[in-house]
Amino acid sequence: MIAGPSVDAHHLLPRSQGGKETIPLHRVCHRKIHAELTEKELARGYTTLEALRAHPAIADFIRWVARKPPEFTAVTFRSKARTQARRK
Ligand SMILES: [Zn+2]
Repeated sequence: MIAGPSVDAHHLLPRSQGGKETIPLHRVCHRKIHAELTEKELARGYTTLEALRAHPAIADFIRWVARKPPEFTAVTFRSKARTQARRK
């Protein structure tokens, strides 16, 4: 797990369901989880990292993102900053 600005805290049990425990997740993986699953679904069956990893679409995504360089999202943010710098 890479610490830094591209890491989000994910509530294993959604906050709306009374969850307090968080785990650090790479931001792109975190976004994918919430794109695939509603908070109700998360609360019902995906309150562990193992369960999340076993979700077919998320498992596919992890396989895909694993082929990207470790600083995948950092590169995205950096190139955005470079574009803005050029405009000045
Ligand atoms: Zn989350």
